[in-house]
Amino acid sequence: MPQVRKNRFIAAIYSFLVWGLGELYAGVNNLKIGIGIVLMIFWFIYLGAVSIVLPPVYISVPIYLLFSLLSSFDAYRDAEKFNIKVEFEEESRRSPGICPNCGTKLTGNPRFCPNCGHKLVE
Ligand SMILES: [Zn+2]
Repeated sequence: MPQVRKNRFIAAIYSFLVWGLGELYAGVNNLKIGIGIVLMIFWFIYLGAVSIVLPPVYISVPIYLLFSLLSSFDAYRDAEKFNIKVEFEEESRRSPGICPNCGTKLTGNPRFCPNCGHKLVE
């Protein structure tokens, strides 16, 4: 049964709305999940601070949008990475120990196929 793919656009939209949420959704690795949680806390603190300090809109909104866009872009790429990882895992499960590109039998766990140079490890 094929593993679930992550939708890049959903990841981007999530992170645009709540910083870090898209990173959590993509869940590409533990580090990025941690970063996602930190971003969400940061988002919460930022909104709290803005509602208390009430800085001018021309300051608070651009900062908000900047972080939204950065997180959004990051989450988009995370979802992409996740999907590549899943595809590679499926590929190697189908034919373990065989280069998915040229079919050469592999010994050990090489990063590149010794025959065609195909990248085996992400
Ligand atoms: Zn090969």
